[in-house]
Amino acid sequence: MDLCGPLRYIIAKGIDPKCTTCGHERMALSDTVGDTVWAVSARHPPFEQRKNEPSIPVAVLMCGKCFTIRQHGLLAILEWLLNNPESGNDSH
Ligand SMILES: [Zn+2]
Repeated sequence: MDLCGPLRYIIAKGIDPKCTTCGHERMALSDTVGDTVWAVSARHPPFEQRKNEPSIPVAVLMCGKCFTIRQHGLLAILEWLLNNPESGNDSH
């Protein structure tokens, strides 16, 4: 997954990239490992029972100053990115 994609979506949609808690200029997209994505879990069972729990994939933004976490629905963002391919004039 192109990690710059969710940030391109947020900028294109005019969503305020500042931290909603402390006003820090820009929140950073949290990295994932390999093919995994962040997700909001529908349930929170004991750790050993969490495999294959229903969840909602999200893009996670974190403030580098106060560590507030903000989430946006990843599947909708990925669909928007598919329908709005990056032009040569876009910047990250
Ligand atoms: Zn903050």
